[in-house]
Amino acid sequence: MSCIVAIVGRPNVGKSTLFNRLVQRREAIVDSVSGVTRDRHYGKTDWNGREFSVIDTGGYVVGSDDVFEQEIDKQVELAIDEADVIVFVVDVEAGITGLDNDVATLLRKVEKPIFLTVNKVDSAGREADAVEFYGLGLGEYYSISSINGSGTGDLLDAVVKAL
Ligand code: GDP
Ligand code: MG
Repeated sequence: MSCIVAIVGRPNVGKSTLFNRLVQRREAIVDSVSGVTRDRHYGKTDWNGREFSVIDTGGYVVGSDDVFEQEIDKQVELAIDEADVIVFVVDVEAGITGLDNDVATLLRKVEKPIFLTVNKVDSAGREADAVEFYGLGLGEYYSISSINGSGTGDLLDAVVKAL
């Protein structure tokens, strides 16, 4: 059985940092599939004895808002097509941005489990700031730090239950 978790979100929220953390515990089988319309990175990992694949979406993003929007559409399309579970990453340092709202709007149409994940919560002080992400209208969120690993265990517990 192949179970796929897609990491989506606008640029710079920490998707690749999270991906690297998730796959580093075993020899990462990272595979870049480049095409005209897509670039994605796959890795395999396991948690609580459950194996799954992770896709880090969003490869080459260069500058303009239009390109950002294209990139996001592409990620969501990929998530709809291939993922079993979606991890939607946002950034507590930046707060809610217009692009976060765009992604949230697109994801609301996806009938798959979505885990809203507030990244860069590196210290307890930042927990309080994370509450603004209820404003995305996606309900509960997981707060994590992809850099120091805090919160990622709880997120993974929930993700593998949904697989
Ligand atoms: P992506 O564009 O969504 O893949 O984001 P990256 O993984 O490339 O990270 C963007 C920036 O955010 C980099 O400078 C990371 O070091 C930083 N970053 C990622 N995760 C965290 C985190 O948990 N805490 C902090 N403080 N910075 C982070
Ligand atoms: Mg990245």
